[in-house]
Amino acid sequence: MSFEKEIQRRRTFGIISHPDAGKTTLTEKLLLFGGAIQEAGAVKNNKIKKGATSDFMEIERQRGISVATSVLAFIYKDKKINILDTPGHKDFAEDTFRTLTAVDSVIVVIDVAKGVEEQTEKLVEVCRMRNIPMIVFINKMDREGKDAFDLLDEVEQKLGLSVTPLSFPIGMGYDFKGIYNIYEKNINLFSGDSKKNIEDVIAFDNIEGPELEKIIGTKAAKDLRDNLELVHGVYPEFDRNEYLEGKLQPVFFGSALNNFGVRELLDCFIDIAPTPRPKKAEERLVNANEKEFTGFVFKIHANMDPKHRDRLAFIKIVSGTFERNTPYLHVRHNKSMKFSSPNAFFAEKKEIVDISYPGDIVGLHDTGNFKIGDTLTEGEILHYKGIPSFSPEHFRYINNADPLKSKQLFKGIDQLMDEGVAQLFTLEMNGRKVIGTVGALQYEVIQYRLEHEYGAKCTYENFPVYKACWVAPKDPKNDEFKEFKRVKQKFLAKDKTGQLVFLADSQFSLQMTQQKYPSVILKFTSEFE
Ligand code: GDP
Repeated sequence: MSFEKEIQRRRTFGIISHPDAGKTTLTEKLLLFGGAIQEAGAVKNNKIKKGATSDFMEIERQRGISVATSVLAFIYKDKKINILDTPGHKDFAEDTFRTLTAVDSVIVVIDVAKGVEEQTEKLVEVCRMRNIPMIVFINKMDREGKDAFDLLDEVEQKLGLSVTPLSFPIGMGYDFKGIYNIYEKNINLFSGDSKKNIEDVIAFDNIEGPELEKIIGTKAAKDLRDNLELVHGVYPEFDRNEYLEGKLQPVFFGSALNNFGVRELLDCFIDIAPTPRPKKAEERLVNANEKEFTGFVFKIHANMDPKHRDRLAFIKIVSGTFERNTPYLHVRHNKSMKFSSPNAFFAEKKEIVDISYPGDIVGLHDTGNFKIGDTLTEGEILHYKGIPSFSPEHFRYINNADPLKSKQLFKGIDQLMDEGVAQLFTLEMNGRKVIGTVGALQYEVIQYRLEHEYGAKCTYENFPVYKACWVAPKDPKNDEFKEFKRVKQKFLAKDKTGQLVFLADSQFSLQMTQQKYPSVILKFTSEFE
């Protein structure tokens, strides 16, 4: 197959949802269509279970699973589909944000009864900012839930999307009869049989004809006709370009658990979803069909075996082909590297591959050379953009609890930060180290892993910070910036890349500081446009 064809057949996407909306179930059903797995239960749920086991065990279990589910690939109708796993737990939101830099589109799963939930809002906002094409899947139609139109309104309002339904439910919950597929113009009747992989659909060009009554009954037929009229009156026609530009989001309804409405979603997805999209580097825009290989690290996973400290770095291939045993430039280190056993992912297995194409993810064994955001090329100096650090929510001093192991401690902290587990800030005033995290759970992860993988012990001490703001002075030489640095010295730190950060202790002090030093811009993310 030609290089161009290989690109055209790839679809790399992520599924995002609030925990429990049905992401894992949907993933599993999608894999069934690829024949990649044989049975339900094969996709491991990487949710953090509360209270089931001790948190440490749970973290380890979760880490193991999250290697297994990092990338799930399968072939469907000759398309190579790569699903990138996005943890739903809010403490791992940053992981998900980074993974979203490696997807070309997303599917948003919403629970019909719960509607738009908090985590969905946050994740969709990130996708919206990046104009990532999104398809919405309203799940659990076999249960009583919100009225379809109310839900579409909610999606538009809370998520700031502009939707158009491409399928529409006939009834709901106990009365759920099936789905009218607006995209394919046919009806799919609901049998409630979760074992069925592929449903029988009834083609339906003319919903005005009397057959509709025969199939779904008089009342349901009338409701469906009324609803479809309203859909056509209220929502815009589907336009693929608008979808690709992130301006219009098609909506499907279904029940992942019953494998219902999933085939429709998948068939439409492979039709409309983007092939590997161009990606912006600091230097230029890079297109997938360029011959020279480029790619970037969006995730690093530590080995589960503490005796081997090697890690798996996940690279998204942006352009060209990635080949085994071929030297590539590690741009940040300005060093040539080759990889004898790059892993590709197929369903829940990983295997060594000789060649990978744009849109694919390869896992490279790493002994500490990579950190998140690193770029690999065939020699060109490129830096891929779009892996920001967000201000953490929690801040604590980290102290060494075993003076004989300080080397191990620093090495461990260093490597865990490369993996993106948390962010490290070093105070300007006294060199003390502060760890910032999105969720409180990460402190346990760090403490546990430092001890088990590096043989180091740490303790924490509270450090009250409201937000970390990256400092971007309009003019680094002006007196205002000098005064800012002098007066606020106590609150200044360097992040891991050496950028200056202002640790505001309250919203009020942040506002006051910004007012007093207007030429010193304070930003909540580290990514400066
Ligand atoms: P995740 O946290 O988003 O990955 O959600 P899961 O896929 O683990 O699903 C959460 C729960 O919802 C599980 O108990 C599923 O069996 C259930 N579930 C998923 N899809 C459906 C559905 O279509 N209908 C019903 N009734 N339950 C569902």
